[in-house]
Amino acid sequence: MAFAVHRPESMEAVIAALDGTASVAVSGGTLAIRAINEGKSFPLAIVSLRRAGLAGIAQDDGMIEIGAATPIAELVRPDLAFLDGVIASFGAPAVRNMATLGGNLFAPQPYGDFGVALLALDASLAIAGPSGKRRLPLSKFYETGLASNEIVTGIRFAPPAPGTWRWLKATRRALNSAAVIAVAAIIETDRSGTISAVRIALGGVDSHPVRSPVAEAGLLGQVLDSASATKAGEAAATFHPCFTDTYASAWYRRRVLPVFMRRALLGTPLETMP
Ligand SMILES: Cc1cc2nc3c(=O)[nH]c(=O)nc-3n(C[C@H](O)[C@H](O)[C@H](O)COP(=O)(O)OP(=O)(O)OC[C@H]3O[C@@H](n4cnc5c(N)ncnc54)[C@H](O)[C@@H]3O)c2cc1C
Repeated sequence: MAFAVHRPESMEAVIAALDGTASVAVSGGTLAIRAINEGKSFPLAIVSLRRAGLAGIAQDDGMIEIGAATPIAELVRPDLAFLDGVIASFGAPAVRNMATLGGNLFAPQPYGDFGVALLALDASLAIAGPSGKRRLPLSKFYETGLASNEIVTGIRFAPPAPGTWRWLKATRRALNSAAVIAVAAIIETDRSGTISAVRIALGGVDSHPVRSPVAEAGLLGQVLDSASATKAGEAAATFHPCFTDTYASAWYRRRVLPVFMRRALLGTPLETMP
């Protein structure tokens, strides 16, 4: 149980209220409050991000900037329609109303669906802390984490060109199920169908969402078809360690990965999936 709850009304006040391991930033609270209730985390103080002005969605210069404290449910809007599949596969409505985009970047695997999607989008983070503000590519964030008392304030990315976005998540059940495997990709082809640019990110294969360099290298310059997509998935299943948890064994994840990679890349609609 925490002894104090702070509800700062600005980003600066959040930073001032954070106090190393004695306090915890809480955004939607779907993970942080559960950890406190279960006795796995015991901060002296909770610092809520909800009133700090860190929610909202803006577009400028062709880029989309989403405040870290924006609930997942608020991402349902026409200019973010490509994310509908990610949202539909995320928890259930009650969770989506509370869970935030920024909080998702800290979710342990096999959670972190938006981390996977945002890696494929090559997103960058706005970060604020006692030493000021900085920007960090999301891929670097997964390697370094944040410094003490820093918070993520926003997430920025370029929307994908029409027809280039892919998302597919293998789950044990339809609602409230973490990923067995999650695949996000941006794939561009030229007029002959040859892949000219590709970014693929995966969940369920490592300790945090990762890009798949072997799948990307295997696809670049190839014609996008069932054979090339399956081969890329098989290379990824050999390259990434995968892991065992209550949802699936590493063995099972390695078998699901090539199938879902192929289905994701070819854009197979769920209802017609072989
Ligand atoms: C029933 C259920 C189903 C779920 N289903 C899914 C799912 O399908 N997919 C999925 O990806 N996740 C799922 N989750 C996990 C979780 O709800 C999400 O990952 C959610 O996005 C976490 O965000 P939050 O705002 O609730 O984080 P919080 O619980 O508020 O915080 C989590 C951690 O992140 C830190 N943090 C939060 N925001 C910031 C910030 N801006 N800067 C610095 N640190 C910060 C906190 O200090 C804390 O350590 C599920 C959870 C539950 C309980």
